[in-house]
Amino acid sequence: MDKVQVDQIKRIKKILSEKRKIVITTHNNPDGDAIGSSMALYHFLKKQGHKVDAIVPNMYPQFLAWIPGAAKMVVYENQSAKSQTLLSQAEIVFSLDYNAIHRTGSLADILARTEATKILIDHHIDPEIDSFDYCISTVNTSSTAELVYNFIEHFGGLNLIDQAIAESLYAGIVTDTGSFSFSCNRKETFEVTADLISRGVDAQKLHQLIYDTFSENRLRLLGYAINSRMIVWEEFKTALIYLSKADLMKFKFQVGDTEGIVNYPLTMEKINQSILLTEKEKMIRMSFRSKGHFSVNDFVRKHFNGGGHMNAAGGKSFNTIEKTIEEIKTILPAYKKQLNYKLKYNS
Ligand code: 5GP
Ligand code: MN
Repeated sequence: MDKVQVDQIKRIKKILSEKRKIVITTHNNPDGDAIGSSMALYHFLKKQGHKVDAIVPNMYPQFLAWIPGAAKMVVYENQSAKSQTLLSQAEIVFSLDYNAIHRTGSLADILARTEATKILIDHHIDPEIDSFDYCISTVNTSSTAELVYNFIEHFGGLNLIDQAIAESLYAGIVTDTGSFSFSCNRKETFEVTADLISRGVDAQKLHQLIYDTFSENRLRLLGYAINSRMIVWEEFKTALIYLSKADLMKFKFQVGDTEGIVNYPLTMEKINQSILLTEKEKMIRMSFRSKGHFSVNDFVRKHFNGGGHMNAAGGKSFNTIEKTIEEIKTILPAYKKQLNYKLKYNS
C-alpha cells in the first residue's frame, strides 16, 4: 500500500474518532470477497462503537451464510425502504469490492444521491474515483478482504482482529484467489493469511464450509454443463458453456449454483479462455476467465458491457444465447494470435 493510501487511512481514522452512522455497501450478486470484506469491516467498526449497517443489493449465495454476521445484512431487494432510510441517515458510506456505482445494481440510484462521505476500498481496474471522497484502491491485491486487512493494519487496529473478523477476511481471500490458485503471487497475501490463522482461523474447516456444500442438483448441473453444454474452439484456445433458463430449472437452480462452473474449462491444458453464458430474466449474464496474459477485462470492456480483472471478468448480452454465441464466434478470429500462447513455467 503506497503512502498516499496510508495517508488517506490516517485521515479516515480522524473522521472515525467520533461515533458515526456508517453503511457498508457492496456489489450486486455478492461473492465471497464482497460478503467477507463487508463483514470484516462491519465487525471492526462496530467494535469501536459506531452504528454500522451493511447492505447488499441482492441476496448472497447460501454457501456464504456462515460468514459471521452475514445474516444481519440488509438485502436491498427485500428491504428497500429500510435500505433507503439507512442510506439517507448515513454519515459515511463504505463501498467495498466494486469500482463503479453502477456495479451495485438496484442500489446505484440511491447511492449516487447520498450526501454521506464515500470511501472506496476495492481492487478492480479503473476505479471511478470522482464518485468517492477517499479511494483505497489497488489492482494487484488478491482481494478486497486483503485491502481491509491493510486498512485495519494502518488504522492501528490489528489487535482488534478477533475470530469473526479473521474468518470474514479469510473467506474473502480464499474465494477471490480460487483457494490460492490465482491472484496470489505476492508474499503479502500469505503473510496476511498466516496472521489470520494465528488469530483463530481454522483454514480446513472454512474450506469445507465454502466448498463442500453442494446440493446434489448443483453437482449434477456442473456435470451436465460440462458434458452437454460446452463448446470448444480449439483454434482460439477458448471454451464456452451456456446454460438456458430451462437447463437451470431442470436442476432446480438456487442462487450460487453456477458459481465456479466457468473455471472448469481452464483445467484443459489447451484452453486459455473460458466463457460461461447464463440466461437470466432479461439478459444473458457472461462470465469470463483466462489463464496467462490474455486480458478478459479488455475483451469484455470492448465487446460485452462489463469488466473486472485481467483473468476474471463479467459482462452482459441482451441477445439470445444463440445470437450471443454467434457474436462471440465472429469476434474471436480477431483475437486468434493473442489467444494462442502456451503457458511457460516462470512466465
Ligand atoms: P464473475 O464472472 O465471477 O461474475 O465476475 C468476475 C469478476 O469480474 C469479478 O471480480 C467481478 O467483480 C467482475 N465483474 C463481473 N461483472 C462485472 C460487470 O458487469 N462490470 C464490471 N466492471 N466488472 C464485473
Ligand atoms: Mn473481489
